[in-house]
Amino acid sequence: MARKPFLMRRVSSTITVLMGGQPSGMQCNFGQKRCMLCDILSTDKPDHVLFECAELEEKRCLLWPQVIACMPPGMAIDMECYNNARKTQYLISCLHSSFINEWSLLYEKVADFVHSMYAHRKRKYDAMQE
Ligand SMILES: [Zn+2]
Repeated sequence: MARKPFLMRRVSSTITVLMGGQPSGMQCNFGQKRCMLCDILSTDKPDHVLFECAELEEKRCLLWPQVIACMPPGMAIDMECYNNARKTQYLISCLHSSFINEWSLLYEKVADFVHSMYAHRKRKYDAMQE
């Protein structure tokens, strides 16, 4: 990780989401229980942002396949069977495992996915206020 300083912001975003927060510089819709981007009256929580919100689907379709592509085949199959809450837990818990060197690209893709989805969400909220 020390060799990839550009990753630090992405990893820090992922950890913040894991701790129940919103990434630094991307806080929006604070104090609201509902997602204000889509119209399904969903709770504004990580699994909604990462896997559910229709307003973020375009970004998700771009990035999620890159995460899946880096997974070992067995893990990729498991992921497809998990519901959104379980997928989210699995991702932000660093894949329920201690650090595995062979997975470093996968960790990068996961951090990129979480960070980029929240960054995209922030842009959508900003656009709503204009
Ligand atoms: Zn939504």
